[in-house]
Amino acid sequence: MNYKLFPLVFLLLSCFQHPLPVLPSGNLSVALLSESTSPVSPVPKTPTPGVAQDSLSGAEEFPDSSRANELQPTDSEAQPENKKPLLIYSDDKLSVNLHFPHGTKETFETFKSAILREIPVLPDSVLSPGLASITDDSLKSVLRTMLLDEIPSALLTYQLKDVSVTDSSTIISFAIDTSNLYRRTEPLIAFYKDPASAPLYPLFSMDTNPPGPEIYSRLSLLIPCEGIPVPRRALLLPNAPRSYRNGIHRGIDFYANWGTPVRAVADGVIIRAEHNYKEVLPEFRKSLLAETDKLGRTPSDIFEHILVGRAVYIDHGFSLVPGYRAVTIYAHLSDIENNLNPGTKVTRGQIIGYSGNSGTSDSTKKTRNGAHLHWELIVQNKAGEYYLGQGLNYDELFPLLVRIFASEDE
Ligand SMILES: [Zn+2]
Repeated sequence: MNYKLFPLVFLLLSCFQHPLPVLPSGNLSVALLSESTSPVSPVPKTPTPGVAQDSLSGAEEFPDSSRANELQPTDSEAQPENKKPLLIYSDDKLSVNLHFPHGTKETFETFKSAILREIPVLPDSVLSPGLASITDDSLKSVLRTMLLDEIPSALLTYQLKDVSVTDSSTIISFAIDTSNLYRRTEPLIAFYKDPASAPLYPLFSMDTNPPGPEIYSRLSLLIPCEGIPVPRRALLLPNAPRSYRNGIHRGIDFYANWGTPVRAVADGVIIRAEHNYKEVLPEFRKSLLAETDKLGRTPSDIFEHILVGRAVYIDHGFSLVPGYRAVTIYAHLSDIENNLNPGTKVTRGQIIGYSGNSGTSDSTKKTRNGAHLHWELIVQNKAGEYYLGQGLNYDELFPLLVRIFASEDE
């Protein structure tokens, strides 16, 4: 029995002497197997020859392994001259066992780097439980990317969990600590799933509790670009993350070909018509975005003067939303009607400008890519300033917007 414990002690010592992670090394003659265990199964303590053989067709070739197909039977006693270590990942890649048949010639050092290497992509099994509650695919995809950025790489490294000795092998078990991972991922998922659950950082607002959707119960607006309905994708709607400027999307992005006429959604008075907007240099725009990174939010000046591009603002007074002053914003325009200036009255349906991409990075590169109308409705009262849809989750927001823009009149 002592001859079996000796390598075990050696393995443990060598493991602790070398902190994680270790760079991958090449020339590994080990087969990487899939094991048909469920994600929640405990790490198996013994090799399962049947599983290993069954998985051969789906065996994943280990990187840099030129001899991955030389898979040996896990019953090492049957062929003692061909004892090879086996690296067996669970299906969800959250745990991995190294099976070291007694008498194996290779040293643990050869395999340690392979086991402890940082996994290239976070297994979806870690994020799926949380992301399953997000109904919009585009939001889910962006959140997944954000979470991957958010999670420190140390949390994605396999940690030593267990060492056991069987009659035939020493088995070293490693796993990713999912409880620590969930502590990092759950708050972010919860925030975008239920935007009302955490304070947002709207521009100018003194009160982070937005009014409920009931204030819009009688609101009826004209769709700003004729024939282009409210988009379904959550990323194009209010509350979506805008990580490039460290902010939250306050409006609706209506994708419309360059030059599509844009109409006033209701009667009002022009308070801004940026006829003289000149595109900034790409480097300048990037430097401003770097400043938002330091602030962790989009400051109002960068948003209002640069990012909205050539914009029109219309003041609708207190008639549109009872108890609130309402302002609509039409951003990224390529052109504005000549006769519009602050103080000019406009009527519902009147053409005020044309869609474009001013204020976007595409525009700083002098292309017409990504043309769309960014539209938003801001409401203000004594307590603060809010955007239409603020604090509403997608399932409330989308139907509300569809209803608000349901009118057919021209
Ligand atoms: Zn937008």
